[in-house]
Amino acid sequence: MIDIAIIGAGPAGMTAAIYGKRAGLNVCVFEAELCGGQMIYTPEIENYPGTGKLSGAELSLNMRAQMIDLGAELVEDRVTAVREENGIYRISTFGGEYESRTIIIANGAKRRKLGVPGEEKYSGRGVSYCAVCDGSLYKGKTAVVVGGGNTAAEDALYLANICEKVYLVHRREELRAEKHLARAVLDSDKVEKILGATPVAVIGDKKVTAIELEINGVKRTVETDAIFVCIGLQPENGIFADIAELDAAGYIVAGADCRTSRAGLFAAGDTRTTALRQVITAASDGAVAATNADRYIKENY
Ligand SMILES: Cc1cc2nc3c(=O)[nH]c(=O)nc-3n(C[C@H](O)[C@H](O)[C@H](O)COP(=O)(O)OP(=O)(O)OC[C@H]3O[C@@H](n4cnc5c(N)ncnc54)[C@H](O)[C@@H]3O)c2cc1C
Repeated sequence: MIDIAIIGAGPAGMTAAIYGKRAGLNVCVFEAELCGGQMIYTPEIENYPGTGKLSGAELSLNMRAQMIDLGAELVEDRVTAVREENGIYRISTFGGEYESRTIIIANGAKRRKLGVPGEEKYSGRGVSYCAVCDGSLYKGKTAVVVGGGNTAAEDALYLANICEKVYLVHRREELRAEKHLARAVLDSDKVEKILGATPVAVIGDKKVTAIELEINGVKRTVETDAIFVCIGLQPENGIFADIAELDAAGYIVAGADCRTSRAGLFAAGDTRTTALRQVITAASDGAVAATNADRYIKENY
């Protein structure tokens, strides 16, 4: 029997595993893709104390090594269902069935999509959700960044160093990125701002050739080689809807103690209702969730 089953090996899940193992518990971490989660796509994490300028991939490998060295079991498989029977959680993956006394949901969040015609068809053929991953493919070319938050501003500035031309398309008249980032974008000659514009279609032949926008009811086509979609996060908590309370946006309702409305079920990191979604807050949640799971086990078993 697993003591703590952790769903997701981002910073929240891996920190939870480290704390769980150090508490002497039987810990199993399920990861559907790569250990590190969203950190994998971050070239430099400058705001995690003590590491200096470290790439997200390096930080991911360090956390992975630490949890494995402490004895956490890693199951590289996707959790497809979770149910509770008489206080025991049953976890299904593509490859097997598991039983656990507690669960920490640490499945993070995914990048939000535009939901316009052509987006799906040209995904990977000009449509990207990660400028850092794919930007270098468009050296000397034209790129459109869609969004107005921190990631969109950072990505537009990042691409401005690679591409010949960058457009920043945002549906509002003002960017909602932090002031210093918004200012840098507004001051940049290499980033052309198209504000008050809503993307309505991705156009292409074999690859993306343009994006169609609507501005005050008028259509405008902007020719481009790439479209980087940076419009925020989307939680993917459908499989937990029967066992955990979700808010209107789909995040798992849990406070700073990471407890959900169900005993023995915890939520940590980007997946839960919280004001800040960062590596350090996810790691902090992992520590809190594992400590509270340990307390729950001691009180109930
Ligand atoms: C481009 C980019 C740049 C960023 N830059 C920074 C930065 O500089 N500093 C900073 O602090 N933060 C940054 N962030 C945010 C930070 O990476 C996230 O807040 C943090 O990774 C969230 O951690 P998490 O563990 O909650 O979730 P995630 O990192 O999202 O990890 C969740 C993991 O769960 C796995 N998973 C999901 N569903 C299942 C399932 N059903 N079964 C098994 N596994 C599953 C996923 O594959 C993933 O590995 C950035 C994010 C992005 C996208």
